[in-house]
Amino acid sequence: MGVLTRTPLVDLPAQYDTMRAEIDRAMAGVVESQRFVLGPPVGAFEEAVAERVGVRHAVGCANGTDAIWLVLRALGPGRPDEVIVPAFTFFGTAGAVWNAGLRPVFCDVDPETFNVNANTVRACWSDRTRVVLPVHLFGQMAPMAELLELARERGAHMVEDAAQALDARQRTPGGAIACAGASGTAGTVSFFPTKNLGGYGDGGLIVTDDDALARLLRRLRVHGGVSGGRYDAVGVNSRLDSLQAAVLHAKLPRLTQWTESRRANAAVYDEMLAGVPGVRRPRVLSGNFHTYHQYTIRARERDRLRDHLRRRGLETGVYYPRPLHLQPCFSELGYRPGDLPVAETACREVLSLPVFPELGADGAARVARAIRDFFRAG
Ligand SMILES: *Cc1c(COP(=O)(O)O)cnc(C)c1O
Repeated sequence: MGVLTRTPLVDLPAQYDTMRAEIDRAMAGVVESQRFVLGPPVGAFEEAVAERVGVRHAVGCANGTDAIWLVLRALGPGRPDEVIVPAFTFFGTAGAVWNAGLRPVFCDVDPETFNVNANTVRACWSDRTRVVLPVHLFGQMAPMAELLELARERGAHMVEDAAQALDARQRTPGGAIACAGASGTAGTVSFFPTKNLGGYGDGGLIVTDDDALARLLRRLRVHGGVSGGRYDAVGVNSRLDSLQAAVLHAKLPRLTQWTESRRANAAVYDEMLAGVPGVRRPRVLSGNFHTYHQYTIRARERDRLRDHLRRRGLETGVYYPRPLHLQPCFSELGYRPGDLPVAETACREVLSLPVFPELGADGAARVARAIRDFFRAG
């Protein structure tokens, strides 16, 4: 046996190694200025993201969960209004809805893309639906054209949770290209360290074309106050830190190249796992540019496969092991096992493989070979 090389699910130290000097300089600049809260790097980074996504405004905040909360608070619905959210996503999507005083209505997903679509959303609609909150899961956008048509027809807001999908994009029916977060009333982004653009701590941001909404969000993130000690609304303290903004701004120009590396790793998996019985590869919808925050396969023998890979030093992730409608904290909503069967089955079958930019084609091939061995040996 050769030396066992461990393959992690993400490798943040490897990324820091590639740009140590730039990061250190960016952080030192903030320390020198001593302007830690809403200092110049925040506005500069907000402008750079707004331009990249193709929207008029970007508003930084403390994390991606607050970004969702702030938008819902700004849009103003209140109990008993309902927000349609996927049952298969990170907890924070639904947690933000709950903490905004709204009722999450959990929606099933497409078995091949893990995203909601117009059919699954329509099945959740009621006369109290005010917001549709699709998640662009794992770095691929949900089908926005059909979702927007449904929301417009029925007069609901569309808020896109693009926490995992900065730089993901989609061809519109008119032939234009829309970035994740740019087509709804607002889109939200997370800069949690393991996201495709990760900070050195928590961070988040909201993108929108709506001038009034952007103004209100800028107030709500500083307790709701306007100048002169006057408060028209009760907001929160949720700012994007200057240090985080400086790090993120230094990293932003590399995002294109990192995404290309992720896509190249995914292409290795697509090729080497094609036709492996027992493995279902992620499907990319036509017109979608997938950014592979995760490369997530489905396997009936998921847990045994995961153990097999772990014994070979290959780390994987299970996102997500339990659907949101069956979380104990939401028991009062009255969901039962079997209510959202696609999400429930996905939780038993999904396995995310390492796809981080520094993995390289050799790293992806090593994981793919180990998966083939597992199914060959039975
Ligand atoms: C990461 C994430 C969030 C929340 O982001 P934080 O910055 O950790 O608060 C919300 N939704 C999804 C889908 C996420 O992946």
